[in-house]
Amino acid sequence: MLWAGVAAVTLTMLATLAAVRARAANASGESATATAVQAASPAVAAVANGVAEKKDASSPPTQGYANDDPADDAIVGPPAPRDDCEAALKKEGVRFTAARIGVQRRGAIACGAEQVVVYLRSPAGIAYDPPALVTCTMALALSRFDAIAQEEAKRAFGKRITRIHHLGTYACREMKAYPGWVSEHSYANAIDLESFSLESGTSVSVLRNFDKADAPAKAESRFLRAVSRRAYDENVFSNVLTPFFDALHRNHFHVDLARYRTDGTRPAG
Ligand SMILES: [Zn+2]
Repeated sequence: MLWAGVAAVTLTMLATLAAVRARAANASGESATATAVQAASPAVAAVANGVAEKKDASSPPTQGYANDDPADDAIVGPPAPRDDCEAALKKEGVRFTAARIGVQRRGAIACGAEQVVVYLRSPAGIAYDPPALVTCTMALALSRFDAIAQEEAKRAFGKRITRIHHLGTYACREMKAYPGWVSEHSYANAIDLESFSLESGTSVSVLRNFDKADAPAKAESRFLRAVSRRAYDENVFSNVLTPFFDALHRNHFHVDLARYRTDGTRPAG
């Protein structure tokens, strides 16, 4: 049984698993090209196994989308669809296009998600480059994240963000160290955020500008510190991994909506 060993996994181990999952995500080298190829894959029928029950809809736009329920932390599988999600995106003013990848079996694991969209631009005025194939709930979370990013850009620079560059969303794969466990990227339920372009033409990048100092001196570093911590602390995402987490995240923020949580925005220990 696919998830047979999951019950024995402790919460402590989950943090380790999250680290390994993140490493697996990066090792795969997911890219815009991969995303485009995956998006073009033929739709297949949803597979019931691993798909949780639908949850109630209607989260207000200012609410986070992290999963705070510890009871389901050990469940790793395609995320549950959200009732009326596309209607919620439209209500918020998110620009997106419909997409479908379905849930599909690849060997022992299930990948994909029942409910995905291509996220183009948020009501906060931020476009994603390339357009991001993500679960619909992740699109709602990105809209919330964009609003936070604009607040922090105004605070740090007095400028607006026009574009967020990312390294990839959807890539189907299994963790090498933990067979049966897959990255949230396998469900289009994660995105790797690389840099933020300001209207002034300035680019703020995780690789160049993230500073692990207690009190970063530069505005760019304070901005990156603030947006990553708010993304976790305000429950926008379940997992937020930054260069504080490990060296594999030196050039991007990994954010996802897994059922377990990891705060990778602070020094370890
Ligand atoms: Zn990632």
